[in-house]
Amino acid sequence: MARYTDSVCRICRRENLKLFLKGDRCYSDKCAYERRSYPPGQHGQGRKKFSDYGIQLREKQKVKRMYGLLERQFRFYFRKAERQKGITGNNLLILLERRFDNVVYRMGFANSRAQARQLVRHNHFSVNGTRVNIPSYLIKEDDTVEVKEKSRSIVPIVEAMEAVARRGVPQWLELDREKFRGTVKAFPTRDELTMPIQEQLIVELYSK
Ligand code: SF4
Repeated sequence: MARYTDSVCRICRRENLKLFLKGDRCYSDKCAYERRSYPPGQHGQGRKKFSDYGIQLREKQKVKRMYGLLERQFRFYFRKAERQKGITGNNLLILLERRFDNVVYRMGFANSRAQARQLVRHNHFSVNGTRVNIPSYLIKEDDTVEVKEKSRSIVPIVEAMEAVARRGVPQWLELDREKFRGTVKAFPTRDELTMPIQEQLIVELYSK
């Protein structure tokens, strides 16, 4: 499968926002965005004026990269969101939040979505007692995600669970740290998604 292989910190600098793609490093003074908060490249510090299309494109790229998706996957979620009842932009964000790798990250079993994706692929989790190793699996309400017993002492999971106190677990999820288990209480509402995203711009871009 195709994947992004360049420096991920460049993405934050390009999108002019901390996207927290590198786990612990994002909270330290080694964060590249903290040190150079301007776009990468020779003309990064030059004045930039975006057209309407450019603004919409950057917003889409930002969200796509935040969740670690490629264009085709992102478009798939958009089309799915369009077919659902309600506001397309909200539906899109909720669908992205429901991805299994995102839920693992949000529950604090991984330090970043990229790490969550790898841990999921390596069979470290179950959903409602059944092994699930597909990062794009869509979690449902009342689902229970659990770290497999033999995986509870592996370094990435132990470190992530120590670090989760720093960023907290969202209200729509419930974490039982002792049992290495989390439950989806409800799907998130738009207000609970606090990243600065203007999803309407993405809808406008794809509706052209
Ligand atoms: Fe982004 Fe994290 Fe890199 Fe900082 S350390 S630029 S937040 S990925």
